[in-house]
Amino acid sequence: MSSPSTADLLVVDADVITLDPARPRASAVAVARGVVVDVGGEEVAERWRGSRTEVLALGGATLTPGWVDGHSHPVGGLTLSAGADLTGVRSLEELRARLAQLARESTDGWVQGWGLVPDVFPGGAPRADLVDDALGGVDGARAFLRLADVHSALVSTSLLRAAGIDGPRRFPSASEVVCDADGTPTGHLLEWDAMALAERHAPPLPDAQLRTRLRSLLEAMAAQGLVGAQVMDGDAASLELLDRLEDDGDLPLRLRVAPFCMPGADDDDLAQLLAWQERTGRRWRVAGVKFMIDGTVDGGTAWLEHPDANGESTGSYWRDPQAYARAVRALDAAGTPTVTHAIGDAGVRFVLNVLEPLGPPVPADGAPGRRAAHRLEHLETLPDDLVARIGASGLTASVQPTHCTHFVAADGRDNWSVRLGPERARHGWRVRDLLDAGALVVLGSDWPVADFDARAIMAAAQLRRPVEDDGAAPVGPEQAIGAGAALAGFTRAPALAAGDASRGTIRVGSAADLTAVGADPTAVPPADLAAAPVLLTVVGGTPVHRAL
Ligand SMILES: [Zn+2]
Repeated sequence: MSSPSTADLLVVDADVITLDPARPRASAVAVARGVVVDVGGEEVAERWRGSRTEVLALGGATLTPGWVDGHSHPVGGLTLSAGADLTGVRSLEELRARLAQLARESTDGWVQGWGLVPDVFPGGAPRADLVDDALGGVDGARAFLRLADVHSALVSTSLLRAAGIDGPRRFPSASEVVCDADGTPTGHLLEWDAMALAERHAPPLPDAQLRTRLRSLLEAMAAQGLVGAQVMDGDAASLELLDRLEDDGDLPLRLRVAPFCMPGADDDDLAQLLAWQERTGRRWRVAGVKFMIDGTVDGGTAWLEHPDANGESTGSYWRDPQAYARAVRALDAAGTPTVTHAIGDAGVRFVLNVLEPLGPPVPADGAPGRRAAHRLEHLETLPDDLVARIGASGLTASVQPTHCTHFVAADGRDNWSVRLGPERARHGWRVRDLLDAGALVVLGSDWPVADFDARAIMAAAQLRRPVEDDGAAPVGPEQAIGAGAALAGFTRAPALAAGDASRGTIRVGSAADLTAVGADPTAVPPADLAAAPVLLTVVGGTPVHRAL
């Protein structure tokens, strides 16, 4: 292929933040065949303009490497966010009123919802008998209500009965049908295997609806400046869905998918996960495998070195954590990077003990850059020694700043802080310390757990409070990071984490994934960044969103 002499796309009159130390700022970028071919001043336009070149003048707005959400569930999240949005519900009365209305409006006898915070329930413990009468009694609407951390659900007594859930169960994982002392289920189903008992009775989303919802979700992500998302779940059905979605047209952004390896996985499952590593579409590919070593602090299913205030969060999600270790080693030996959800300090320590001996990421076969490192996700409470170990390990640390700012209160009266107690809560979301220790820190949303707007997440990482709530006290303000580090967490860091040196900067030869925003993310106050419009999103040289 001869090298192009004219550009397909010219972005001019821009304040370009390249994140390339050799040329940090520029005002024009030329793109041909999906790749940046020139970066510089206005001479770039003269050099590359041809009769078919599209020229976009930004009027002085900022252009950065395209933003990538380092942890997201756009496909699985369609199910995780099925039904009514309950994220704003703050009291039991409010929840009951909402459920009564949903039950009245339901045409199929079902009520589904998501985003429920445990603080709504006395003692943070969801119970069916607190909501059954609002749903029309034990013969009323069948309700499946997912908690905000997506690791547990409250189901109505009517659904417990319909699903034949009448007592404790044993699963390959540490999932639990929560029961009273007499063995009667309370309606709280902890973790994935337990939730599946009830969830499989719920009416599935029709295929056409899934496709429509997924496409509009991905379009909304692109419209907020995202050029990609690192997808932290996947199975045969979701990969199939991506294939069919791409039959309808290009995806609005790139997806890098790590399918799940769940407790109980056998050799056939591992072989399937390895075979999937070859699967790719035009804008999506499978890369890596996702594990969960524990659950969540809010659900009492995290793996802590000392029990929480309720005496919970004492073990791994894997009944046999050594089986997790064997699976990770097998994937590593096959050259497949792993991603492990690790929230509690004991879980993080166990995962580090498994991953550290595998060695730091090294360039593969003389190729430039580095291969993708194994990753640790969430890292919600870390003692000092683990921060230092992660920093020295070469592993990728992936953190979601808005989980801290939106689910935890500075006064320590939220469920997460009460369960952990003051000392461990003080060690929450140590983004600054991880960076200072030398870790590669990727930022993300974990949508649908939190909103995917990268501007608001970058702002929250700097403020340690919700950017939309001026009055909120910051949570662990000493862990606030600078604006440059926040931008790197959505650009350079996810590229390096993926072992892809051709992304995350704007320089000749890099993939033309670009985001333009109406304020300089590295210079303006965080609130101004959050309020600034996303003017342009470019994926592989193609504008997928423009508001110029
Ligand atoms: Zn997640």
